[in-house]
Amino acid sequence: MRRAPDSKLPDVGTTIFTVMSRLAAEQGAINLSQGFPSFQPPASLLARIARYVEHGDNQYAPMPGVPALCEAIAAKTERLQGRRLDAEREITVTSGATEGLFSTILALVRTGDEVILFDPAYDLYAPAVTLAGGHVRRVPLRLGNNGEFAVDWDRVRAAVTPKTRLVVCNFPHNPTGIVFNDDDLEVFADCLSNSDAWVLADEVYEHLVYDGHTHRSVLRHDALWERACVVSSFGKTFHATGWKIGYCMAPPALTAELRKVHQFSVFTVNTPIQHALADFLREEPGFAASLPAFYAAKRDLFCGLLADSPFRFVPARSTFFQVVDYSALDDESDDEVALRWTRDPGVASIPLSVFCEQPFTGRRLRFCFAKDDDLLRAAAERLSTLWS
Ligand code: PMP
Ligand code: GLN
Repeated sequence: MRRAPDSKLPDVGTTIFTVMSRLAAEQGAINLSQGFPSFQPPASLLARIARYVEHGDNQYAPMPGVPALCEAIAAKTERLQGRRLDAEREITVTSGATEGLFSTILALVRTGDEVILFDPAYDLYAPAVTLAGGHVRRVPLRLGNNGEFAVDWDRVRAAVTPKTRLVVCNFPHNPTGIVFNDDDLEVFADCLSNSDAWVLADEVYEHLVYDGHTHRSVLRHDALWERACVVSSFGKTFHATGWKIGYCMAPPALTAELRKVHQFSVFTVNTPIQHALADFLREEPGFAASLPAFYAAKRDLFCGLLADSPFRFVPARSTFFQVVDYSALDDESDDEVALRWTRDPGVASIPLSVFCEQPFTGRRLRFCFAKDDDLLRAAAERLSTLWS
């Protein structure tokens, strides 16, 4: 028997999202772990896809994306973020945000480069940096006495060195839900003003922002945009995580480089869905604006159901995740508790530690509230057996 290959990622196992969703299915648990909606994409979008499939639009799309979709993304970006993009040279449709993030990291990072991540960080960034030969430098978010996380800009500034090739930021932030405001964009730009670093802005939760907060994209800031690739995903916006269609927006020179990776990793992305998305964005531009009220109601339902529980939490400002502090209920690590509670009382969640360099001692779990109301009620009912 031939021995196993020397791993390029010896410290990496199967992603927590796969582990927890599998365990939830085995245990018959309500799955509030991996982030995906339990409801359908808009019916008119589904009908459009069926039409394009039947019409025969089933062959390779152009490598950078279907032109009509790139145009529709440019129109939407101008309307919402005030920046007119060149659809041909600045927009690339990717296989989910995942591929866009991965292709950009591979295109930019070289052996020995440093890449700054805000910790907790979404799980794909660090392994992608490692595969590219780079070193991750994590800057922890500050956890205030009020239970809220915040960016510690002094630490970001101190982490930028001549070796910094890239800063990956993810606001609205998975898992904490914190968002950038205009001051943050200014300070961020200032931290990088003497540096050659690029910015990779993962903005997949751009439309899921609540309570009067707004999404302040890196696209809004000239000095940041010049050095940025901004990534988003139709999976979040249209309740369709399984379609795996996202996009990268970057100035032409960076777009050219990330397309060199994109064209040889996936080449191109599902044709009929791209056509259908282009139509839908053009014809029903208001859909995304309905999402904050829709998701805030779900968040409020879930938080309301847990209001009298021993959990402590600050209602999420964005995303479809609610982080809770369970320390009044259990003293074990979040990995242990997430596994145990998936078995009994049968609710799966994500331990915050998986997003962190060091196990997170703050005893926090992340619950996805992108679920039908009945499912959220059933989950809260099961959780309540832990204290009643
Ligand atoms: N970035 C973040 C922060 C995410 O939470 C996710 C997953 N939902 C992705 C990227 C991946 O997006 P996609 O499913 O479009 O690849
Ligand atoms: N982004 C999703 C989450 O945070 C999971 C995506 C995945 O499973 N790769 O739950």
